[in-house]
Order: sequence, then structure tokens, then C-alpha cells
Amino acid sequence: MPDATPKTESQKALDKLGLHRDIDLALHLPLRYEDETSITLLRDARDGGSAQIEATVTHCEVTYRPRRQLVVTVDDGTDTCVLRFFNFYPSQQKALAVGKRIRARGEVRGGFMGWTMLHPSFRAAGGDLPTALTPVYPTVAGLPQPVLRKAVLAGLARADLSDSFAPGDLSQMSPGPLWTLREALLFLHHPAPDVSLDTLSDHSHPAWQRLKAEELLAQQLSQLQSRRERATLRAPVLAEVSDGTLHDRLLATLPFALTNAQRRVGTEIAADMAQPIPMHRLLQGDVGAGKTVVAALAAAICMDAGWQCALMAPTEILAEQHFRKLLAWLEPLGITTAWLTGTQKAKERRSMLALIESGEAQLVVGTHAIIQEKVKFKNLALAIIDEQHRFGVAQRLALRGKLQHDAMEPHLLMMTATPIPRTLAMSYYADLDVSTLDELPPGRTPIVTKVINESRRDEIIERIRAQIAQGRQVYWVCPLIEESEALDLTNATQTHADLAEALQGATRADGLPVLIGLLHSRMHVDDKKAVMGAFTAGLMSVLVSTTVIEVGVDVPNASLMVIEHAERFGLSQLHQLRGRVGRGAAASACVLLYSTGDAPRLGEAARERLRAMAETNDGFEIARRDLEIRGPGEFLGARQSGDAMLRFADLATDQALLDWARAEAPMLLDRHPHLAHKHVQRWLGGKSEYLKA
Ligand code: ADP
Ligand code: MG
Repeated sequence: MPDATPKTESQKALDKLGLHRDIDLALHLPLRYEDETSITLLRDARDGGSAQIEATVTHCEVTYRPRRQLVVTVDDGTDTCVLRFFNFYPSQQKALAVGKRIRARGEVRGGFMGWTMLHPSFRAAGGDLPTALTPVYPTVAGLPQPVLRKAVLAGLARADLSDSFAPGDLSQMSPGPLWTLREALLFLHHPAPDVSLDTLSDHSHPAWQRLKAEELLAQQLSQLQSRRERATLRAPVLAEVSDGTLHDRLLATLPFALTNAQRRVGTEIAADMAQPIPMHRLLQGDVGAGKTVVAALAAAICMDAGWQCALMAPTEILAEQHFRKLLAWLEPLGITTAWLTGTQKAKERRSMLALIESGEAQLVVGTHAIIQEKVKFKNLALAIIDEQHRFGVAQRLALRGKLQHDAMEPHLLMMTATPIPRTLAMSYYADLDVSTLDELPPGRTPIVTKVINESRRDEIIERIRAQIAQGRQVYWVCPLIEESEALDLTNATQTHADLAEALQGATRADGLPVLIGLLHSRMHVDDKKAVMGAFTAGLMSVLVSTTVIEVGVDVPNASLMVIEHAERFGLSQLHQLRGRVGRGAAASACVLLYSTGDAPRLGEAARERLRAMAETNDGFEIARRDLEIRGPGEFLGARQSGDAMLRFADLATDQALLDWARAEAPMLLDRHPHLAHKHVQRWLGGKSEYLKA
């Protein structure tokens, strides 16, 4: 039904900010405050301090040097001050005419020529001074502060602000006074002028403590609810039935023994799948930890029980690599596998769809193509998602909807090579069970990481020659230029040409020609596959590639990784890339080439990242440092829809509040379910559904 009245500009802006309900407005808290409660005499002004002055305009003119500007001199009886405006309207010019008395607020700078203020805010003098600090809210275009302020105040007045937990519940957390939600909100929207602005800006004030506790509690409650709701869902029981199973035969044919960690997580997964409740498990393990075989063994248990299994990977190359590996392991054991991608030919696709629908294909491997509506499984019981953070919530939900059987859902196993730091696991992922591969397969020699200035490129070329001569293979990753895919491409093409030139005359021990390949995101998928195929088969010695599109490729013979402009990559990305080498027995190295551009040295953050890479190979340590450097957004991947992010609490500083919320949530949900429900609604509204995927 169309709306009777069209939305105003400011209503649209409020929608954009997600401020739909009164409570949303009440919980929209100021970014900072401005002090308009007092007038400062120019005589008492501090250089660089912010001040509100009240003064009379004594001079007003537009000058053109060094650029067009409005220059206004005011006098408050104790001193004079020059106000400068580079952008101004005729109406403002009029309001600043000689003789007008105004109130101006901004940063005062003292100098040789006396006081000046650049772009102060101003209005006509007179009227009472406010008694509280003026809040400045986060806003968007089309929603000026005064309009937003009014809307927030109205929301605050109408919203139900009754407590869902007593202030006393926070007594251990808060050394200061204990605040109710209402008190905390009223205060934060109009703090008294004598409050310490520091405790407001660093969120340590008791009013902030209350809000952070509220927010963390909502997050914990919503995850607890979804965990309990899932416990009411049904899933096929996939228990190991007898001896001589596919699972056991696969285990017997593997060319290696499982690590203890692989055995342990295998048991955890098997125990989940033997339950009539859908598994919701995240398998995290550093790159190279051997997640694929764990997935294959889980799939075998599923197929042993007579059900289908699907494995979905984020890119076609990754999916194909899984496909080949699983095919090599499982086909000799009599398993039929189907392959689904968006780019496959219609005819092939039709035959695959038929295999899947009839149930003849017990295992289906592919990309997003797996979750399209046309794909009908006969009896999907286990869905495995590789590199889960690269899929969206909707895609995960779609996969869960693929079992149309007695209102059951498939078991879900998600895999990630980006380990989740403990605090994140406890907060954002509290509704997940987590299994961790904390041990690498034996026989790997640790990767040596070197941070080298770009000016020493020649030395690197020599190293590459030596690797090639030994029959080893090399990755060369080109700079990441996020703004422009086209630039990425030019860069990679150029680097490829330069390397080919520099490596002329290089030879391989086996006498085969030295091939140097190029892989970038714009290539046709068939060409990508051909290049990847040649590299995987060992026919290509050097692979120049653009971004990280193909994380997860597994070529054990690759022993050197060069990352150009490493300073432009994030820590986790660098670690993922580095994990492409050191997969076999050969001593492997990762060279982080950096360039400082025109600057004399690298920036602090970049230096810290590169240092961290050189110092540790441990994915958990890297993840922890990355969290410190960048905050949680990067880790959350699919959940980073913004809605699910914590707005006020900061996991780095609010561990104690998080612990409190984890303990409080089950008690509240058991003893006062209606309050718990109300609390989640208040904080998350309709978004809580989204968190459950
Ligand atoms: P990731 O966890 O990064 O997905 P993979 O599953 O690709 O790692 O495994 C990396 C490599 O280690 C593969 O070549 C795989 O066959 C091998 N591998 C896995 N488990 C073991 C093991 N227990 N012993 C020796 N090699 C193993
Ligand atoms: Mg993998």
C-alpha cells in the first residue's frame, strides 16, 4: 500500500540512520558535546581552546586575497577577534553586518594579528544560555543537528525506558553511582556542564557503563535465544553405523595420519551430527592446518548414513580445488560427486542438477551456484561452507533451507582460516560451537618472513632464480589498489612483463622451459583455470597474481611468496597469503616488499603490521594483533552488516562487562523471559533475526 503522505527529507534521513522507533531515537547517542552554557570574554580566551563569545560587529568585508573570504571583526569590550568564512551565503553576510550583536562559537587562535576564529558557528545574541551541554549526534546529509536533536528529544520523551535489569546488578562492575537506563539516557543526552568531558568521550562514565552493559546483554540474549531455538529444530541423525564404512575406508586410504587436532575436531563434529539437532559449528584452523580432510571425513559420515552432503566455496578455483581433492579421495571408494558453478555449460549443468535431485550424487561441490533455487537436493543433511566469512547471511540461510524433509534442517559446518580471537568468539559468535585445529601437520618447515625495501628487488630476482633452478615454484602478489581494478590490472601486467624480462635465462633442473604466468580477477574463468592448472601441475614456475581472490589454493611445491607493496595489505590478508607457501617439506620463505613512496619511512601502523608478520607465524597471535589494530569489523565478515556490530561497547576495554552479560543473559532469560524478550526488541528490533544465521 503506498504511503498516504510522502516522506520528508528529514524522515528519509532518519530512516537511513535506522531511527524508526522512539527507542531507536532515544538510543542514538551523541558523538560529542559542545559547551554553549557560558560566554567567554576575549580577554580570558585561551589559544587553541574552544569558546563562545558575545560581541558586536565592527567591520565586515569580502576580500579576495589569498582567496575569496568574508572577514568580520567583532569587539566584546575586552578585546577584538577576526572571524573568517571561506564559504558564505548573502544571508550570513547580512547577519554579520556592522553593528549586529552576535554569539559565535569555535576554536580561538591567538596570533601576531590578535584573536581569530575560522568558520565559527554563530547566531544573533540574546536569549537564555542553555544549562546543559549541547549534544552533537552522528548524522547524515539532509538532517541538520537541530532537527535531529528535536527528533531525539521527542523520541526520548515518548519511549518506554523502564529497566530490564536493576542497576544493582551492575554493582560489581561500576565503582561509581548506579544508574537506571532512564537516568543514563537523560544524562547522556543533556549532561550537566560540570561533567568531565573525558569520561564521556572515553565512555568510562557510569552512564556509559550502563548503556554498554545494556547493549552487550542484548547481544548475548539474542544469541542465547537463537541457540535455544535451534535446539528445538530437528536434523537428520548421522551416526556412524558399522565397521567398514566409507569414513573408515577413507581414513585408511589417506597418504598421511591425522594430527591429534584433526582427530579431536573430527570427534567433536561427529558427536554433533549424531544429534537430532542441527549442528552449527565453526571449524577454525590456521592456513595449512588441514581442514579439507576433516570436512571430507564429516562428509563421509553423512554419506554413510545415506544422506547427501554439499560443500560450498567462495570462488570457482577454490571450489574446483576441493572438487579435485575430494574426487581423488572419494571416487575410488565408489562415491558419485556433482559439480556446480555459475559458469558451467547448460548441458553439463542440467545433468548435474539431475544427479543431485535423484540423489545419485551423494556429494555436491561448488560455488554459490549450489544455493540457487533450481538446485533441488534429494536429502541434504550436511552443508559445509569453506571460508565462511566470504559468504553473506542470506546465503547461509538459503543453504539451511535446502533440506525439504519433515521440517528438518541440515547440519552446518563452517570453516575459516582466520581464527577468531577469544573476545569475539565470546560475543559475536556466542551462538556457535567452535572447533579449533591448533596444530599443523608434521613435516612442515616454518616459513621465514623477511621485510625488505623495494629498492632491493634485484636480490629477490636472484632468489627466485635459485628457487626455479631447484624445481620450486614462486608466487608474486601484486599491489592492491582498492579504488581501481583497472589500475590493478595494469600493474600486474607490467610486473609480469618485468619479471619475465628479469628472469630471462633462468633454468629448471628438469630442463622444462621456465613459464611465468599471470592471474587477475578480470580474466575469463577458463583462462584462470588454465593458468591455475599449469601452476598446480608444476609446469609454471612463477605465478604473478593480483589480489587475494584465490586464497586457499594448495600447491605444496611452492616455496617462495613475494608480496609487493606489502604495506598496503591488512595483517590477516598477509597471513593468508603467506599460508600459500610452506605447505610441503621444502624450506619456504615469504618476502614482504615495501615501498615508502615519497615519504622518508613507512607509517607507524604499516610498520607495526610488517613487524608482526616477521615476528610470528601463529595465526591466533596475528588475529589478536589485527583485532587490536583494526577493531572487530574485519573479522565479522558476513555479520558485519553493521546492524550486528556493537555501537557502544568496545571488546578491547569492556571484557568485564562482557563477562557480566554472559552470566546475566541465561538468568534473565530463565527467570524473566518477557523482560529478556523486551530487552532484545528494544536494542535489536527486527535485526535479531538476522543474527541467527
Ligand atoms: P587448510 O586448513 O588451509 O584448508 P588443507 O586442508 O588445504 O589446509 O591442507 C593443507 C595440506 O596439508 C594439504 O596438502 C593436505 O593434504 C595436507 N594435510 C592435511 N592433513 C595432513 C596430515 N595430517 N598430515 C600431513 N599432511 C596433511
Ligand atoms: Mg582450505
